[in-house]
Amino acid sequence: MFDEPSSYLDVKQRLSAAKVIRSLLRPDDYVICVEHDLSVLDYLSDFICVLYGRPAVYGVVTLPASVREGINIFLDGNIPTENLRFREESLTFRIAEAADEFMVDRTRAFKYPSMEKTLGEFHLGIESGDFTDSEIIVMMGENGTGKTTFCKLLAGALNPDGNQKVPGMKVSMKPQKITPKFEGTVRQLFFKKIKTAFLLPQFQTDVVKPLKLEEFIDQEVKTLSGGELQRVAIVLALGLPADIYLIDEPSAYLDSEQRIIAARVIKRFIMHSKKTAFIVEHDFIMATYLADRVIVFDGEPGIDARANAPESLLTGCNKFLKNLDVTFRRDPTNYRPRINKLNSQLDQEQKLGGNYFFLEEDKAATAAPPS
Ligand code: ADP
Ligand code: MG
Repeated sequence: MFDEPSSYLDVKQRLSAAKVIRSLLRPDDYVICVEHDLSVLDYLSDFICVLYGRPAVYGVVTLPASVREGINIFLDGNIPTENLRFREESLTFRIAEAADEFMVDRTRAFKYPSMEKTLGEFHLGIESGDFTDSEIIVMMGENGTGKTTFCKLLAGALNPDGNQKVPGMKVSMKPQKITPKFEGTVRQLFFKKIKTAFLLPQFQTDVVKPLKLEEFIDQEVKTLSGGELQRVAIVLALGLPADIYLIDEPSAYLDSEQRIIAARVIKRFIMHSKKTAFIVEHDFIMATYLADRVIVFDGEPGIDARANAPESLLTGCNKFLKNLDVTFRRDPTNYRPRINKLNSQLDQEQKLGGNYFFLEEDKAATAAPPS
């Protein structure tokens, strides 16, 4: 049995872990796994049991369904065979829909120079880049390729080598590792750190309410679970006034539904406040939902890595997935990105055409080379 094996693993490690776990299968055994990353779940499993109910009150386990059916039950919030709806709304991943919601009006432009950073044995080269307001840039890359280091450089917590300088900007950062030191309740913490935002009705509606903190807001911070702490940390980061929000691995310890909600909260917040966010995210579905553009990190982890300049979601994902030798298609019903089985017909066709990733399903359907 494996309980949440993928937290903090990068995409490559998640796929290797899935392969190792599947290698345990014999004709006379079962492997049971709890997994919140839907593309990994899809890749890993043969059958899915969905658990629904009310957190901290009760839970119900469904009968095993096929993978596609199980994921669709979860996303729809509806079990057709039982004629039972366990969630009001269904969840989708249509990028166009998410973008259409906002009238994007980008007026400000920022630049950062090309930089180098050496940390012990590790060297990171950063290509210069630019960004605007109301924009989310997702950082994709293997663990140890310097994503956190780049965030710290932007935040001014680290200085680049030589006398290069990052333009001084007001930055709010959600760190990757969350270590609660605060003595007191969540409410007291919010009053101490982000009182102004916390008392704003808009912030309550856009951020606090959807993240469902009321269940534990009067609990001591030190007693919170991983997923509760993660949501508190997201609220804290968004509650500070800043030009740039750096959000390092927001999905760790969140369940699939909380991930989708957190992604929507972050996206809405950045659009409404006309700020910029840099987000490190390994859950590929969440990353592609969040991203306006991406920065691909490549090179040798822990030794010599490079942060490419920001580029479009399509070209960035293509570059990232090509490195991993993995192709994705999109589910026609709910637009969920799905990993193609290695060497399947679609996998081979997409690789031939250089299409490792698709923005919309209709393109996936027409882009296969004529046979
Ligand atoms: P990522 O966030 O992409 O996983 P990091 O930026 O955390 O990568 O780390 C990149 C590399 O730099 C890692 O190999 C890490 O061990 C190394 N590193 C980070 N901080 C230090 C430090 N203070 N001293 C020496 N090496 C460090
Ligand atoms: Mg990191």
